[in-house]
Amino acid sequence: MAIELPPLPYARDALAPHISSNTLDFHYGKHHQAYVTNFNKLAEGTDYAGLPLVEAVRKSWSENNAGLFNNSAQVWNHSFYWSSMKPGGGGAPQGDIASMIDRDFGSYDGFKDAFAKAGATQFGSGWAWLVLRDGKLVVTKTSNAETPAAETASTPLLTMDVWEHAYYLDFQNKRPDYIATFLDHLVNWEFANANLAGA
Ligand code: FE
Repeated sequence: MAIELPPLPYARDALAPHISSNTLDFHYGKHHQAYVTNFNKLAEGTDYAGLPLVEAVRKSWSENNAGLFNNSAQVWNHSFYWSSMKPGGGGAPQGDIASMIDRDFGSYDGFKDAFAKAGATQFGSGWAWLVLRDGKLVVTKTSNAETPAAETASTPLLTMDVWEHAYYLDFQNKRPDYIATFLDHLVNWEFANANLAGA
């Protein structure tokens, strides 16, 4: 059974004016769809066909199968990214994650600085992450399709896509402006809290 492009958790214009419907038409409608299509082509007739997505990510990572890894991981990463944002999101968190951020980063501003730095210093394409590792919150960054979902040592809580296709139509080359907008207006802390509760 082939994997399918999951529905966006909001309308394509719901993140405007911060992220435009034009960006989501391309980023979700073209890029995310292409990863789904390419994964299904590569998986057809192999023992990857019919695997749950996260198992395909872990199997292809452990087998060093670049084509299947890049496409399965990018399907997973993008679905996680859409849920990491919501209309009217951003700003300081509430709930369990708020106290853990204070404990592990000193303050919300300490977290913001670490997350923004991870996104800004990821050279080329990649992702910034907030993960739970050994009971502690950690900010990380990954290159290209690489993802903490490929291994079980960390539980992903939140991600931000820093591939140029995520921001170029709205922010051109100004990645730091996109990152600030993500943190101040888009982060879905309920999603992060739900992932923390399920860890
Ligand atoms: Fe992307």
